[in-house]
Amino acid sequence: MSSGIVIIGGGQAAGWAAKTLREGGYDRPISVVADEPWDFYERPPLSKSVLSGSAPSLTRLFSEEAQAALDLTWYRPLRAEQIMRSQQCVMLSNGQRLPYDQLLIATGSRPRLPGGAWQHQPRIHALRSWDDALALRAAFADCRRLAVVGGGWIGLEIAASARQNGIAVTVFERQPALCQRSVDPAVSAALLALHQQHGVELHLDCGDIQLSQQQALPQIGSTHTAAQPFDHVVVGIGIELNLELAQQAGLAVSNGIVVDEQGRTSDPAIFAAGDVACHPQWGFSLQSWAFAQNQAIATAQAMLDSQAAPYQDLPWLWSDQYDVNIQILGLPAAGGTTVMRTQPGGPLWFRLGEDRCLQQLVAFNDARSIKLAKRWMASRRPLDAAQLADPHFSLMSLR
Ligand code: NAP
Repeated sequence: MSSGIVIIGGGQAAGWAAKTLREGGYDRPISVVADEPWDFYERPPLSKSVLSGSAPSLTRLFSEEAQAALDLTWYRPLRAEQIMRSQQCVMLSNGQRLPYDQLLIATGSRPRLPGGAWQHQPRIHALRSWDDALALRAAFADCRRLAVVGGGWIGLEIAASARQNGIAVTVFERQPALCQRSVDPAVSAALLALHQQHGVELHLDCGDIQLSQQQALPQIGSTHTAAQPFDHVVVGIGIELNLELAQQAGLAVSNGIVVDEQGRTSDPAIFAAGDVACHPQWGFSLQSWAFAQNQAIATAQAMLDSQAAPYQDLPWLWSDQYDVNIQILGLPAAGGTTVMRTQPGGPLWFRLGEDRCLQQLVAFNDARSIKLAKRWMASRRPLDAAQLADPHFSLMSLR
């Protein structure tokens, strides 16, 4: 009898892979091992509408009926402890062994913490799961002063949600600029201004963070700021990829599980998708919602058919902070120039390479230009910096 497919992980990549397998006609068993008890759900609302209170319940990835139709066998809440490649089976935390014909590793990532002292503290939060979001939402109810450690995407989204709840927010960021790894300094400066306009206190280049206690409250100090008490602290200083299973199984790992453009690892019966997979073109984990979905779909198609189209996509992410929808297409590139365009809805920043082709577009409140830029990037169309900067020049004329 066929063992079917085992998916380790119950996140977005796992969900889209399972759906794609069924839509592609896979009629053998699909087992899903997940360490949370919930059906597949969306993570983007966790730092935004869940915290602001406008999304009181979990946003499912698929409707209840659509998920039931996937006919999955769940093993939850359980963890996969070991992949036994020679026997093609997975050992679960309850001692059960799950045999597989093909295995998909979609174990995602976990929030990084500055050190052991930050763990298991009721007033110190990280945000990754629905439970984390519920705990933080409950914390907001008795929070007057919130410290956010890390001025990246998660930290800034939480800072905005906290301000919208009337909470005083102080952000501590190690780098001299916000979201420095993903955007140009001009965009970092605009993010800084946005948060300052909303009353956030920001300490850039903060040096080492020190955690202490004052009565029952956590105190945060840094190399350049005196320790001060906060009601709650949120940490958003990046993630650790959940690579342990792949490493123990002897799969090739380098900045994520090494996969080809069909999501196949160094073992042809094992695939990887989402955060844990190293992007086959860029050489690192992209850690974005769009990658988790689209690379998982391409991987599941390849599990069904080795001739399936390879994964190809442009890096894209979005963030909602206050009344600004921020969209980022492409990656920041060394060299080249940044051109800013000022327009009524919000600015755009075009990063052009030496060849005048677009490397990255960051848009505040302008999804239409992002859509258009996808075409310019795909066709490697050279662009004119003066035209892009001129607010009277219609970008739509470059369709
Ligand atoms: P992030 O975007 O990588 O930002 C973390 C920031 O914290 C970095 O600037 C980092 O600086 C800084 N940092 C590191 N250690 C620090 C310390 N000890 N004290 C102060 N600052 C410190 O990571 P994140 O915001 O935690 O988000 C986690 C992942 O989820 C990221 O991959 C992110 O892209 C993704 N995410 C995406 C969205 C979205 O797409 N809207 C929303 C939330 C999260 P260094 O660069 O020096 O480490």
